[in-house]
Amino acid sequence: MKITIDKNSGFCFGVVYAIKAAEKALNEEKHLYCLGDIVHNNEEVSRLKQMGMDVIDKEQMKHLYNQRILIRAHGEPPEIYRLAKENKLSVIDATCPVVLKLQRSIREGFLEMEQKGGQVVIFGKKGHAEVIGLAGQTKNKAIVISDLSEMESINFAKPVRLYAQTTQSLSAFKDLVELIQQKIRSLGSESDFVWYDTICRQVSNRESVLQQFAYEHDVIIFVSGKKSSNGLVLFQICQSVNKRSHMISSLHELQRTWFADCENAGVCGATSTPMWLMDAVAKEIKRINQT
Ligand code: SF4
Repeated sequence: MKITIDKNSGFCFGVVYAIKAAEKALNEEKHLYCLGDIVHNNEEVSRLKQMGMDVIDKEQMKHLYNQRILIRAHGEPPEIYRLAKENKLSVIDATCPVVLKLQRSIREGFLEMEQKGGQVVIFGKKGHAEVIGLAGQTKNKAIVISDLSEMESINFAKPVRLYAQTTQSLSAFKDLVELIQQKIRSLGSESDFVWYDTICRQVSNRESVLQQFAYEHDVIIFVSGKKSSNGLVLFQICQSVNKRSHMISSLHELQRTWFADCENAGVCGATSTPMWLMDAVAKEIKRINQT
């Protein structure tokens, strides 16, 4: 059986940047606090914990003073920076530049909407770290929509500025834009609707390439942490063209039966999946099919 690893899968530049920042800090002082998991991948988090990374949550951060703390690629709301300042924490800010730009844009949109009595709408996963950071730019007044069925919470008679979490599906976002336009038209009101396609191309550009990769292989093993948003989006793309697609987060989840009559297997993953883990999965597939 031939096993191929998708060369386009693996860490995006935002995650590479955050992990390099963490490794540099750990090499300097052998210990570093990180607010939340640096990446939605338990295996990579374990590797960094062994190097001295201590993952804490916001409650624990409230009791931390005079230490170094890393802010991961997802970014954080302004209140976290305020807390860090109050507690004299030294912040290593590894927020992805794409997310920083989106936060800035939402802040500007929010100021405009406050003046016009309008609404900021964020198409994203409720409770996701990036979305918490984005909503924080609007004093948590933004309307967060995870699903098209939730769009009724928007008042279509008022101005709307729409943004997307960077890892959302591009086609679902376009559907949402279309539906909002229809709603405004049906009211017959003057439209003051502006939408911003803020989906990161590190994810959406992978969609068509991954579709082709999934189509070309008998079996697809998609490696991703279960909490990864872009992991779920990309896995669904694999499944849509190849029913023999399986999502795993560690090589222990592999099942020999998946590879019956398989001549070529493909291994791929999310923007939060380390290449070393996909390598290990490919080796394990080879091993279980030889024993
Ligand atoms: S997916 Fe895009 S926005 Fe998100 S961390 Fe990676 S590069 Fe940054």
